[in-house]
Amino acid sequence: MTDKLKPCPFCGEIAEIENYLPEHTIITCNGDCDVIIKDSYQSKETAVEQWNKRAETIPVAVADKLEAELRLATLHYKRQEDGLIWNKDVVTHRLINALSALTEYEASK
Ligand SMILES: [Zn+2]
Repeated sequence: MTDKLKPCPFCGEIAEIENYLPEHTIITCNGDCDVIIKDSYQSKETAVEQWNKRAETIPVAVADKLEAELRLATLHYKRQEDGLIWNKDVVTHRLINALSALTEYEASK
């Protein structure tokens, strides 16, 4: 199997194997989210497999739809010192569209 790690499932940054003795594997995210997979009893191959299972990729078309909806949602809210001003209907609609794109993809697998 390959030892290639997929990007962090939480922030998308590159992950790395910091220690790969046969019985002590640590995989960490290089981003700011501090995600770590640490297991002293698994092989490097198993740890990589587990990391990559969590770091599932979605097709570019689905990602594009998701990003477009989230971008549109952000156009309709603005953070102020005392809270958030938002167009609830538009933001809700865009978030539902984003969720629908993911749900359709999950159902199609
Ligand atoms: Zn991360």
